Amino acid sequence: MDLRLPASMRRAAHGALDLLLPPQPLDQPPDAAASRGAGVQWRGLTPPAWSRIAFIEAPFCDACGAPFDYDQGPGSRCAACCREAPAFDHARAACVYDEPVSDLILKLKHADRTDLSGLFARWIARAAADLLPRIDGVVPVPLHRWRLLRRRYNQAAEIARPLARQARLAYWPEALVRHRATRTQGGKSGDARRTNVVGAFAVPLAWRGRVDGRRILLVDDVLTTGATAEGCAVALKAAGAACVDVAVIARVGQLTRRPE
Ligand SMILES: [Zn+2]
Repeated sequence: MDLRLPASMRRAAHGALDLLLPPQPLDQPPDAAASRGAGVQWRGLTPPAWSRIAFIEAPFCDACGAPFDYDQGPGSRCAACCREAPAFDHARAACVYDEPVSDLILKLKHADRTDLSGLFARWIARAAADLLPRIDGVVPVPLHRWRLLRRRYNQAAEIARPLARQARLAYWPEALVRHRATRTQGGKSGDARRTNVVGAFAVPLAWRGRVDGRRILLVDDVLTTGATAEGCAVALKAAGAACVDVAVIARVGQLTRRPE
């Protein structure tokens, strides 16, 4: 922050940052954060952590959200999406999936740091701001019930719930189920991941009428190959969803869902 800026501009810039970051540092255990005093608490993440997050700004592919090097005009799609459109309509990611953000996401996923979910929801709301006005309901990518029992919470739901609340959208956590426990996706190629999730997701009978004709925002933590999002989109569209958009915390630079 350049303190030489006029006060009005400083206030506007602080307001924009406050939208993205909570008033306490979340990249440290709460006790450590408290012991460091107010000096590092002003932007939610400690300044070094904040500076390492690679937020995605326009221009990007309108379909999969891959960042572009230069502006190719409104609605432009990357080469991969031009060759084969994804099963979902649009995807937006708040930042590039790299080591700094993966550390934060792992804290949410495996270290019970659900206090990070509000921060991530704000990031996603900003990244998907162009999609939110047309959305009817927010649906988290579901976990299989066995994995849910083991982990005790679904990290996608932990993000989707505050996102729906902030955006004043309906929250539909039961609109999609994972009725087959897919093996972990880590280390698999794009094709293997896609095969792994085919038929894994379904809209329960009770939700088919409610999903029919609606515009869904599917929320997950990370978009890697896009295979999970596509599996969910196929199931939602088979139940009549008018469109399925995807919003995540982070995505790899280029999806590997198709051979290049
Ligand atoms: Zn694309």
